[in-house]
Parts: sequence; C-alpha cells; structure tokens
Amino acid sequence: MRVTRFPLSTTRETPADAEIVSHQLMLRAGMIRRLSAGLYTWLPLGLRVLQRVERIVREEMDRAGALEVLMPAVQPAELWQESGRWEKYGPELLRIQDRHERDFCFGPTHEEVITDLFRREIRSYRQLPVNYYQIQTKFRDETRPRFGVMRAREFLMKDAYSFHLDDAGLEAEYQAMRETYTRIFERTGLAFSAVEADTGAIGGSVSHEFMVLADSGEDAIAACEASGYAANVELAPAPPPEQPRPAPGEALQEVATPGQRTIAEVADHLGIPASRHVKTLLVEGAEGGLVALLLRGDHELNELKAEKHPAVAAPLTLAGAERVEAELGCPLGSLGPVGLQGVALIADHAAAQAADFVCGANREGYHLIGVNWGRDLPEPETADLRTVEAGDPSPDGGGPLAIRRGIEVGHVFQLGKTYSEAMGATVLDEAGQERTVTMGCYGIGVSRVVAAAIEQNHDERGIRWPEPIAPFQVALVAIKPEQPDVAEAAEALYAELMASGLDVLYDDREARPGVKFADMDLIGIPHRIVISPRALQQDTVEYKRREDAEATAVDRSEIVTWLK
Ligand code: ATP
Ligand code: MG
Ligand code: MG
Ligand code: MG
Repeated sequence: MRVTRFPLSTTRETPADAEIVSHQLMLRAGMIRRLSAGLYTWLPLGLRVLQRVERIVREEMDRAGALEVLMPAVQPAELWQESGRWEKYGPELLRIQDRHERDFCFGPTHEEVITDLFRREIRSYRQLPVNYYQIQTKFRDETRPRFGVMRAREFLMKDAYSFHLDDAGLEAEYQAMRETYTRIFERTGLAFSAVEADTGAIGGSVSHEFMVLADSGEDAIAACEASGYAANVELAPAPPPEQPRPAPGEALQEVATPGQRTIAEVADHLGIPASRHVKTLLVEGAEGGLVALLLRGDHELNELKAEKHPAVAAPLTLAGAERVEAELGCPLGSLGPVGLQGVALIADHAAAQAADFVCGANREGYHLIGVNWGRDLPEPETADLRTVEAGDPSPDGGGPLAIRRGIEVGHVFQLGKTYSEAMGATVLDEAGQERTVTMGCYGIGVSRVVAAAIEQNHDERGIRWPEPIAPFQVALVAIKPEQPDVAEAAEALYAELMASGLDVLYDDREARPGVKFADMDLIGIPHRIVISPRALQQDTVEYKRREDAEATAVDRSEIVTWLK
C-alpha cells in the first residue's frame, strides 16, 4: 500500500476527551472515529488490525471444529420472552419496534437465537456435540460507554454456543474452548491470564474470563503466583476470618435462628465481609469441608444468584441448587435484590450431597433482611466492592495473593440447561427418549482486543503492535522520493518485498523525513526500512525495529531475507 493512496489521518495532539492511552492512540493514529457515544467507525488502518484479530479467532475456532454461522443482529422479543430475559435484562438491552409495533431488540448476545436455531435443526444425539459461532456486531446500551472501542455500545464479538447430551460432553468442549482461547490469545502476542469468573447476567455455573493484563483494566484479578490460582476479584474469596470458624453445625444453627437478621450481621458473625455485590455465607460442613452458597446481587441487573463459593472444596451438586429452587419455589436467577426480603441458604457438605437443605428462605422463622442496600446497609463506596487485598492468602493455600488489573477480552461459560429448558431444546437419545440438551457459550471481544493490545504495547512515540496483528508488517520510507534514483530504488524494493509476501506500507509522500518517521512510529509498524540518497550510494538501506532507538545499515541485497 502506498501512503499517497492510503491517506494517514494521524494527529500530534492528544484528544482531550480520550482518557486511556489506547483510545488516545487509536484516534491519533487514525484507526477509529467517533460517530456518537459508544459508536465508532473503523478507518482503513484500524480495520486492518481488527481483521487480523478476526482472522486468528476464525482460524482457531475452525481448527477446534466449531461451525461458523451468521445470525441476525435484530432479534424478536418473543424469543427473549420465552427465555425470561425480556423482563430481566434491564436497560442494556436496546428495545426497538417495527412499523407494525412489534417488539424487537438489537442483540447484545445470541443465546436465544441460537437455541431457537438448534431446536429447529438438530433432532438426534448423533448430531451432537455441535458448536456454532459467529463474528458479528453486538449492541449493549452500556451505562457508561467509554475508552473508545474498549467499552463501546456497538462492538464486534465472536460468540460461540455448544450443545451436548450430557455434562461430560459439555465439560470436554469447555476444556477444548479454554485451550482454543489460550491459542488465540497466544497468537495475538498479548500477555493474558485465564481467571475464575462471575457468571453475571448470562447465568450458568462454571465460567472463566480471559484477561489481558494492563494497569488501565477495569477488572481486578487476585492471583497467586505460586499455585497459579487466579480469580476476578469480585469473586475472589474473602480472607479467612481471624477468629476460629464455627464448629460444624454451629453456624448453621446460628444463621437459622428464628428471627430477623441482616446479611451484614450474619457476615459479621462469621467474620467475613459483606459487600454490595458479593454476599457470602460460609459454614463449616459436617465432614469438615466448607460448603457455602454465594449470594450475588447486582443492582443494575436486578438479579441475585446463588453460586458455589470458590473456597468450597467439595462440589455443590446441581441437584442441590435445584432443590433450593424447589424450596424457594422460584428459580434462583429470578430473585431480584430490590424489594426482595432476603435469602440465605446454607447447607453442610452431607446435606448438600443429599440435596437436603436445612435452611430455606422466606420461610417463617428463617428470614434474613439485607439485600436492599441503602435500606439495610449503608451504600458502600466503589472501593468496598473489593473483597480481597494484596497479601491475603490464596484460598488454595498457595501463598499470598497479588492484585492485578486486567481487561476482559474473552469469557467462557458452562451455561447448563438454562436456555434449553426454557426454550425446549431437546434431542432424541439412544433409547429414543427426548432429552434436554446442555449448553456452553464462549465470547471474545474482537474489537476490544485491538484496544487491549495497545494498552499493553505502546511507548511515548505511539503504538508498538505485536507482529501478528500489526496493520502492516513493514514500513518502507523513501527519503527524497522526488529524486529519480531514490524513487526507482524504493519502487524496486517495494515490489520485491510485496512479492515475498510481506505486507508493506510504502511512504512515498514528498514530506520531511521527521514527519514520516513520526507517523510510522505512531501507527506502530514493527519493521521500518529507509531508502535515502546517502544509503543508496553505499548500496545499503537503514533498518530499524519499532522498539529500537537507532537504525542499522543492512546490505540492500540482503534486506528481504533479513526480514523473513
Ligand atoms: P464487561 O464485564 O467488560 O462488561 P461482559 O462480561 O459484559 O463484559 P460478555 O457478556 O462476557 O461481556 O461478552 C463477551 C466479551 O465481549 C467480553 O469478554 C468482552 O471482551 C466483550 N465486550 C463486552 N462488552 C463490551 C463492550 N461494551 N465493548 C466492547 N467489548 C465488549
Ligand atoms: Mg458488560
Ligand atoms: Mg464481565
Ligand atoms: Mg463477561
């Protein structure tokens, strides 16, 4: 590509409204332009990078046996009513009406659409497992769209959904997807970490997030270097209490004491922090193992979830969770914290195994208040959301935890049967019986990866692209291209580099060398070759890697092999 045919839209000034470096550099390098809050146009330079990320994602998903599809961005409300999310999803869902006043939404995610496709297309267990994916535009009406494409309203996501006859099949695909994600992020050249995650609005039980490590990240990760334990801090467990834990059965009784208690009181009694998002109740199990249900309330989503606490050694069976729901008479996910009278569910190990819960909620005498923040508890500062501090012991006993910042670029979930049950996605099994399938889902923020890459790879001169996602591999700069011998040599080298399969941006402008060098550094091309009248006389070119301060002279005849 010639710069005279590829207008660079670089600027020297740092845009005032861009808070983080990737947003600043994407604007300054001329990669993106803002149309409106959270809406961006990708300019040719930016799109090249986006497409490189997309290509890596596609290649690895294909290699893993996933099948590419392309679903509509606009989705009918009926599907969301079937899954129950039309009511639950909240204002992040952009709801629209057509000319017949029928309700639709612009898809923030595609569980409903894919489950609908599945139930129409797949009939037999023999057709399983199947994993469908797409790379497609999503819309989420974020409360605070910011940081450019990092938290946009419209963004590009790779989303994949797998369907299985049983838990073992789901588990196997989940592991395969984790490996695929590891390959994908390794191939992008980014430093990342897979951490235990919260399941948020999507629901489900097991989930990991892929985090690009960067100080500007909105997520905090608690990680133990010695053991490899890492979790999103929202979910990272509280440090063990200083006072001895209650003896088996004791806390259970305490909590189950008839009368009204606040979650804060219970947490205080057990010596664990209660925070706005995470309300954890722990109890020593009969067999010495900790068993707990983590009650999560999320203001924005108006949702409360019960999950296994990561400190719990013994698995809490799904049967247990189902039993709790039966006890409550409603799905755990449908309990809204606002206006809800409060729920505490505690079981010891033996009870959980037997799916026999000792203490239900909203039953006479077992009532807890405390889900209404502001009413039952003071509104905590944002800082209070953190339940773990650096130096706290890792829950696996591996040593002290360190707190790092990360950017969530990928997320894998074991969804289970949430959608297949609600929407009747079944197959016929070997015995000819209808069986509800179980599901996994797997997302990558393709456009966010571009911004995350810059957060991790830049210096005072601009972007330093990791080679695999750079918009061009080589910048070829001609100094004094108006001189025929320079132009001729540069054209010949340009042709030779292109013929050898390299992606070259050839700066053939009649501009000052300083301007050209600054542009090439700003847009971050990994290799730079300069052809100047002086070098020509010595039959050399000047070669510099983006991170180098000085250029070196390389024989003209050797430069192409040198680069390969
Ligand atoms: P976040 O916690 O950052 O809001 P999320 O957990 O809501 O993200 P998921 O539902 O897990 O997002 O979606 C899959 C991926 O899509 C995320 O891992 C992230 O990389 C990307 N993503 C989510 N929201 C945005 C956004 N507003 N802008 C750009 N990428 C996003
Ligand atoms: Mg989100
Ligand atoms: Mg998240
Ligand atoms: Mg997520």
